[in-house]
Amino acid sequence: MSSQSSCIFCTIVKGIFKLLETETMLAFMDIGPIARGHCLVIPKYHAAKLSDLPDHQMGDILPALAKIASASGNENYNILQNNGRPAHQEVDHVHFHYIPKPADAGDKAGLVVGWPIQGLSQEEIRTSYDELKRKL
Ligand code: AMP
Ligand code: ZN
Repeated sequence: MSSQSSCIFCTIVKGIFKLLETETMLAFMDIGPIARGHCLVIPKYHAAKLSDLPDHQMGDILPALAKIASASGNENYNILQNNGRPAHQEVDHVHFHYIPKPADAGDKAGLVVGWPIQGLSQEEIRTSYDELKRKL
């Protein structure tokens, strides 16, 4: 986990390709886009994972993503937010990807998703429900 001083996204707060900015949020172009128009929305507050981010630092993020989606005019797109290396997080500062999905792209552009359905029984789903519900 990088600290704030070495965090590339904290540095970008002062950087280039800014799309939108509020007191708590910044949107900018992704430097390694997987589709034309791929961009990122981050809180300015340095937190590695979504669960580390204080609620009051989150408020501007979803409206910014909706605004970008609306302005870019893409009919198909994904919003992606990765947490942890096994979950494909490379930069340890919370970020939301806005990724256009060209209709005819297949697995050549945009997000390519694996969806390994686990085939859990109703009972197994209930067990995980009970565990989580108890902690919320
Ligand atoms: P993730 O795998 O969810 O952590 O995604 C990190 C994203 O940050 C990747 O899509 C990178 O292309 C992008 N990225 C890394 N460094 C920069 C940078 N300096 N400016 C813009 N985007 C970056
Ligand atoms: Zn940071």
